[in-house]
Amino acid sequence: MNQRIIARQFHVNGIVQGVGFRPFVYQLAQRHGLAGQVANTSAGVTIAVEGPAEAVAAFERDLPVQAPPLAVITAIQAQAIAPEGLQRFDIATSQAQALRATLVSPDVGVCADCLAELFDPADRRHRYPFINCTNCGPRYTIIEDVPYDRPKTSMRRFVMCRRCQAEYDDPANRRFHAQPNACPVCGPQVAFWDPQGFPVDTPDPIGHAADLLKNGAVLAIKGLGGFHLAVDATNPEAVARLRSRKLREEKPLALMAADLEQVKAFACFAEAEQALLLSVQRPIVLLAKRYPNPIAGAVAPANPYFGVMLPYTPLHCLLLDPGFTALVMTSANRSDEPICIANAEALERLAGIADGFLVHDRDIYLRSDDSIVRHLEGGQRFVRRSRGYVPVPVFLSKALPSVLACGAELKNTVCLTRGNQAFVSQHIGDLENLAALDFFQMTVAHLQRILDIQPQLVACDLHPDYLGTVWARQQGRLPVIGVQHHHAHMAACMGEHHLPGPVIGLCLDGTGLGSDGAIWGGEVLVGDFAGFERAGHLAYTPLPGGAAAIKQPWRMGLSHLMATFGQGWADLDLPLRQQVGAEPLAFVARMVQKQVNCPPTSSLGRLFDAVAAVCGLRQTVSFEGQAAMELEMVADRGEMRPYGFQIDAGTGVYRILPQTIVASVVHDLVAGTPVAKVSARFHATVIAAFGDVAARVGRDRGLNTVVLSGGSLQNAILLTGLTRFLRARGLAVYSHTQVPCNDGGLSLGQVLVAAAAKA
Ligand code: ZN
Ligand code: ZN
Ligand code: FE
Repeated sequence: MNQRIIARQFHVNGIVQGVGFRPFVYQLAQRHGLAGQVANTSAGVTIAVEGPAEAVAAFERDLPVQAPPLAVITAIQAQAIAPEGLQRFDIATSQAQALRATLVSPDVGVCADCLAELFDPADRRHRYPFINCTNCGPRYTIIEDVPYDRPKTSMRRFVMCRRCQAEYDDPANRRFHAQPNACPVCGPQVAFWDPQGFPVDTPDPIGHAADLLKNGAVLAIKGLGGFHLAVDATNPEAVARLRSRKLREEKPLALMAADLEQVKAFACFAEAEQALLLSVQRPIVLLAKRYPNPIAGAVAPANPYFGVMLPYTPLHCLLLDPGFTALVMTSANRSDEPICIANAEALERLAGIADGFLVHDRDIYLRSDDSIVRHLEGGQRFVRRSRGYVPVPVFLSKALPSVLACGAELKNTVCLTRGNQAFVSQHIGDLENLAALDFFQMTVAHLQRILDIQPQLVACDLHPDYLGTVWARQQGRLPVIGVQHHHAHMAACMGEHHLPGPVIGLCLDGTGLGSDGAIWGGEVLVGDFAGFERAGHLAYTPLPGGAAAIKQPWRMGLSHLMATFGQGWADLDLPLRQQVGAEPLAFVARMVQKQVNCPPTSSLGRLFDAVAAVCGLRQTVSFEGQAAMELEMVADRGEMRPYGFQIDAGTGVYRILPQTIVASVVHDLVAGTPVAKVSARFHATVIAAFGDVAARVGRDRGLNTVVLSGGSLQNAILLTGLTRFLRARGLAVYSHTQVPCNDGGLSLGQVLVAAAAKA
């Protein structure tokens, strides 16, 4: 037997801090009888072991395989070092190093071990709302800098008591180096405040909050990445009160239910959805409604889905414990401003909205909204990627120069690259107000700091008025590259799937400034990261009033009717005429005729708006895409026969003529065909027309790879239909599973295009 003593050093990169990695290494070394040391560094984790050669080899073999569940190892570099005659294995204190290649862990939902303790009357943390361990708890939202150690987090002001410190120091303990470790004696505390911010004297603030919720109160509740506004979801008056106070008239509200049993009372889910609900990221999962159900109708009107999440902090578990079917838990903000995170800020900004505040004294350093996912066409699809997922990077096929991308105007995210890692930020929101711009700037600075990235290049959208673009142009330090919106969509999907191109990019969305100054959105592109050609698109139609048309779908309805029927539109017996009224219609008709403030658009999102308006479903909306969504929701999926369509290839670019489609829609409606059928046939036509153009482009150019991107692909019928249509024609089809297909994923594409432009 070989008793030769050797020593080896390992540098481990990936998500290896704050996930119980050092205790794991300690225990693994113990098991193999090895001496040495493990240390967190800014570059990851460094391990030195020494002992018999066979034991060292066994350690090296087990290291990647047996790593703890939350760890993500991206690289291990091993090298021989000289043995020093060490006798024991130690865990060293952290050291900052020049290179900060480590990955920061996202926030993690409360684990089963902690939950068991939470509800165990004999445990010293019985009902303590901040219980956590190395396998769960807050991370990204409490970190100010790396390496991830308590003094660099918002836990720094809580000095651990003797018993907590003993756990923290014991390598065999589940709380060994758990940075947010705390207990009722030494840790953060909850409090209940009245609307003026005066503490309410109660021994049980969470129980007090639950009682008020049962009586219909609207409460602000401090969570992990920000405040929620909560009401009892089964109380229609409470839900109505929340909606009217929050000025959020129609967007669906998210629900939180105690467990899967409760969810079954109001929603349907299969195995894939159940796995998403139970995952440590604890996202909001879109689930089909169960009918009848006890949830107030105003939670998600005109929508067959509920957004549902399970509790992810111990505080949530305690709040839901007294038997709610579900609570509405919606981001605490007024309309479209960023979510509140600080107690004083919440008190001020939620004045007049909340009847009380359940707060605590552990600061949230960086806000992070709840993520929203659904299971569709064989994969997880992000509607919003935020808490629980950020800052896990998208791993690219090759290293890039460091780029900062500023994202889009709506559903903004930013992205930073380091080597082959692309860090897409949490959801920042719509960059339409100063509060959102502040959040944008803070996120850019924070991500640069904790990831230690000094970008060499800034990427932004072509649209000169987007606040992200304005910021990029004004920073004045780094070169700026403008990236066409749909090229970025295409690149994002290519990057996610490691496709070098050229590919066919089917980019379908609401709005993006085109290279020709028109507003694009129904695009068939061909290209790679370095460039693209526009091979096909929806033919142009005037967009009356620009942005006003987004809020009032009837404007686009009228524009398409005029493009199809000319003056004859006025003789059509359509519900839109009564719903909108003669005067506004005449006004906008003149705008279109005179081409005043009517930029041309090829937007598919706007065609959906137009058809929804012509069908009489909705003439005004409270959020972008609402009409299109409702058109999808009413579709009778048994009726998927397409109408005829026309493609003009005269100029060498395939143009899908919307007039033919609109004429068929109107013909059906006038004949009394139910809207459910018309919607289904319209969807089928869009699938057939764009699928046909993509297939023709593939034949013309000898390409057989298609990427699907853009916000319109949140439409389940379109995503499924186009994927199947194109696969049936022998094309390889790729769609997003790591970032949203909507503008939330745009920053990823921007970094890739900018990096290619620089190369
Ligand atoms: Zn735990
Ligand atoms: Zn303690
Ligand atoms: Fe877009």
